[in-house]
Amino acid sequence: MQKASGLPDGAERASRQHQIAIVGGGSAGITVAARLRRARPGLDIAIVEPSAKHYYQPLWTLVGAGLVRKEKSARDEAPLIPRGVAWIHDAVDRFEPDRGRLYTARGHELRYEWLVVCPGIQLDWDAIPGLTKVLGQDGVCSNYAYEQCERTWETIRSFRGGTAIFTMPPPPIKCAGAPQKIMYLADDQFRRAGVRDATRIVYLAATPSIFSVPVYARTLDRVCERKGIERHFRHELLELRPDRREARVVNKETQEERVIAYDMIHVTPPQSAPDVVKRSPLADAAGWVEVDKHTTRHLRYPNVFSLGDASSLPTSRTGAAVRKQAPVLVANLLAALDRKPLGAHYDGYAACPIPTGDRKLLLCEFDYDLKPAPSIPLLDTTVERRILYPLKRYGLPALYWHAMLRGLA
Ligand code: FAD
Repeated sequence: MQKASGLPDGAERASRQHQIAIVGGGSAGITVAARLRRARPGLDIAIVEPSAKHYYQPLWTLVGAGLVRKEKSARDEAPLIPRGVAWIHDAVDRFEPDRGRLYTARGHELRYEWLVVCPGIQLDWDAIPGLTKVLGQDGVCSNYAYEQCERTWETIRSFRGGTAIFTMPPPPIKCAGAPQKIMYLADDQFRRAGVRDATRIVYLAATPSIFSVPVYARTLDRVCERKGIERHFRHELLELRPDRREARVVNKETQEERVIAYDMIHVTPPQSAPDVVKRSPLADAAGWVEVDKHTTRHLRYPNVFSLGDASSLPTSRTGAAVRKQAPVLVANLLAALDRKPLGAHYDGYAACPIPTGDRKLLLCEFDYDLKPAPSIPLLDTTVERRILYPLKRYGLPALYWHAMLRGLA
């Protein structure tokens, strides 16, 4: 039962104050905290983060393909919190930006001068009727959760032919390439297992094309043609009927519905802004934290900034984008703190390394204009390359744990 104050019964009404509050200690929250401490060691910063574990989610694609163990993607949160930064081990339940306050699920009040909002994206598993009760069994799997990604590999490894469906819900989602990455790696495994000739691979995507950046889309279309993958665009998964192993889908162009029988299905869940953001004054009409796309500062609350998956920044939601957003946010927050104009500018950079099978990688890097923004000189990265695969497997995880989260990259 809730009291009029909004605090749960029996909740301790503790209140504390920090100069900077960071909501979410994922990729964005830790990176921003580390950069702020490096720039100004004296800042008083607190991170509100409910999870005791921190995940490097890009590795879940390789876990689902049996190439990495899931434990490699998880570390304790505590040692990742930068020294001198307070960790409030709790979830934010309510924002009151007009009063410079927020409230946690345990009923604590936190007052702040500056706020950085980065609680990630919400996975709306329940939006697909029939999904949650079979997820991880009976041929239904998903790489979008730590507890599930190993089941993806079990599903792919034990597949003996038939129809394998891979779904992509309406964007925005985190890592828009992930729904197809696992498909290419599954195709590899089906060939190794000798079942590919007896398999129909179907990509069902709500998007109008295989990838939003035309130059990479051309390469990925060629990959699909080479592999014999059926593509159905502007198609959405509406329901799973697991007892009959059927997927009900709709063609969004014609509104025509049909049922496809599957032997396995990899589902990428629909996603949206976290409810706590959606119901707050910080949200734009779609629910995301409403920030300026170049400065990362809130459009209505000048002491609030946001980055990462929960922000309204109109780019692909990836850790790679966070890596470029964080230095801009930190520079602008410090400028605001010093009452100076905001000089740093984010150009929408995002990256999506897509393993296309056979140890090849297509490294998609682009900006707000959907133009390629390659970071590797002298190499044409608009085509698949074997030389780039170790980047995904080894280089980027090392960059993440040892440099990005420490505010060094
Ligand atoms: P997160 O890292 O998700 O962190 C959000 C944090 O907020 C979490 O720790 C959560 O516990 C916390 N939180 C949630 N609610 C609250 C609350 N109410 N109060 C306080 N804290 C809260 N990116 C790439 O760059 N390359 C890839 O190849 C890639 N592949 C991916 C593959 C998969 C299968 C998935 C799932 C993601 C992939 N990503 C990839 C995307 C990348 O992981 C995210 O874009 C990135 O983690 C976003 O950072 P974030 O800090 O915004 O969110």
